[in-house]
Amino acid sequence: MEYIRLRGIGVSPGIAQGKVHLTERIIFTSRKETISPDQIEKELERLDRSVKRTKTQLVEIKSGLEKKIGTEHAFIFEAHLMILEDKALMNGVKSIIEQESVRAEWAISQTHDKYTKIFETIEDEYIRERQTDVSDVLSKIHTNLAPTVSKAQEIDGEKILVAHDLLPSEAATCLSRGDILAVALETGGQTSHTAILARSLNIPAVVGLRNITRSVKIGDTLIVDGTDGEVIINPATTIRREFVSKKKKYDDYQRELKKTATLESVTLDGYEFYPMANIELPEEVKQAFSLGAKGIGLFRSEFIYLQSSALPTEEDHFRIYSRIAEEAGEAPVYIRTIDVGGEKNLPQMKIEKEPNPALGLRAIRFSLQERNLFKIQLRAILRASAFNNVHVLFPMVTEIEEVAEIKILLEEVKEDLRRADQPFNDKIPLGIMIEVPAAAAITDLLVQEVDYLSIGTNDLIQYFLAVDRSNEYVSYLYKPLHPAILRTLRSIIETARKYNKTVTVCGEMAADPLSALVLLGFGLKHFSMNPIFIPRIKKTLRAVQFATVQKIVQKAVTLKSAQEVEEYMLEKILARHPEAFLMSS
Ligand code: PEP
Ligand code: MG
Repeated sequence: MEYIRLRGIGVSPGIAQGKVHLTERIIFTSRKETISPDQIEKELERLDRSVKRTKTQLVEIKSGLEKKIGTEHAFIFEAHLMILEDKALMNGVKSIIEQESVRAEWAISQTHDKYTKIFETIEDEYIRERQTDVSDVLSKIHTNLAPTVSKAQEIDGEKILVAHDLLPSEAATCLSRGDILAVALETGGQTSHTAILARSLNIPAVVGLRNITRSVKIGDTLIVDGTDGEVIINPATTIRREFVSKKKKYDDYQRELKKTATLESVTLDGYEFYPMANIELPEEVKQAFSLGAKGIGLFRSEFIYLQSSALPTEEDHFRIYSRIAEEAGEAPVYIRTIDVGGEKNLPQMKIEKEPNPALGLRAIRFSLQERNLFKIQLRAILRASAFNNVHVLFPMVTEIEEVAEIKILLEEVKEDLRRADQPFNDKIPLGIMIEVPAAAAITDLLVQEVDYLSIGTNDLIQYFLAVDRSNEYVSYLYKPLHPAILRTLRSIIETARKYNKTVTVCGEMAADPLSALVLLGFGLKHFSMNPIFIPRIKKTLRAVQFATVQKIVQKAVTLKSAQEVEEYMLEKILARHPEAFLMSS
């Protein structure tokens, strides 16, 4: 049989093989069915019943999801309930029925078209994408006008889900049932809700597979390779075998990696280091610790805002922070206040477009301007600090005045909490991120004002080398081992040590074995990274002698270019500790 290979974007790693289950997007009726004026009242009642049915279903999905994977993914259904209760939306549907004497199906489809057009004109990509939520709610009401079993619920046995797109409610219901082996979609991206959910649930997923729904039929055999972003339709036996062995290798590799989790984090000569996790979702905490994290080195709290369509309340923040703090047990948790503004718009607020967003009202600059929002977050972090392992971290500080302002605000919030008799840790450790060259240059001044430092090398490199971190045209210049970066990092780490303050590197650099060795050579102990890289870094650092690496790095930092540094490091480390770059034990 002919087989077809399709390339897409792998958004959730892993490999699965199985039979296709196609889901179809509910098609809004295009048939205009009129009714007589005396039927209007009945039609409105039919609509009303459908809305009530939809509400019950949404509440059920929401609480089912809360039980399975926690409250955060359930946020989306809170938003759907709000859409359902939106007067403008539902009155719009009703007035079409009344004025045009038509069936509710037609009124819904007209309303859907109208909202789709409005959303299409919205510049902000995040808000534009929320159109799928409106679509989701309307399609549910539409289905519930004449309820039958929904397509997504017909699945039986283990299947590979193929669809043009998965609405959040479909993703949540299908993926959390445990019978979906993998997902293959025509649309979507790394941060789409389905991708996030698939990763949290360990379901391999590939998106961006154009025309896949037209290339398969129910019952076809499919291989989904979420690691390499590939899908094969009706593979020949040889290819199937190849993938069975690839899957075995992948699974073995995962098991092998997990083994390092229980091993000590020390170099051969006993120098202790602390691998920690950068996370965006509370669901990642368990996985982080199972991979050997010694703490949550960075919680990028802006994801709380980016996941929900309503502004999160203090309680929403508190619930998330306390869940992370509790699950981390004794281990430290560093909660970074939101890093939004610039390109990362807050979906719930209109933020003006800036000519130079990376240099604009971003991170702490934004928070210090939007004080009410900032104080809500600070209150929640402080309340969660009653768990005692919570640290508060402020991104993109440029000058000492910002630290002074932060302290004043923090003190005001503490005073409020004292008055309200709310428990919190009065001595919550306060730290700042060194991400701006100016802050790097005055580390000696800043460090005296705070309890610890965290170096955000992703931004520090971008600003230091004047290279946009997400622009592929200049990515050849983005070099973590550039001598300018190395001198700066050495100086920050040494300054922190001089003042006896903890310093962490939490940029991607900490997850790269060669760079991590350079950082170790500078005496760094705290490395925070995407949890999936922790085993790799642990393996590398455990394979070397700290004293040897220190000597090698002393010389490397005097070299003239990133390339020279890399070549020298590789040569010397491989000569002394060849196993540092090998994955298998
Ligand atoms: C960094 O800049 O290195 C960092 C960790 O922060 P983010 O990647 O969230 O900007
Ligand atoms: Mg940053």
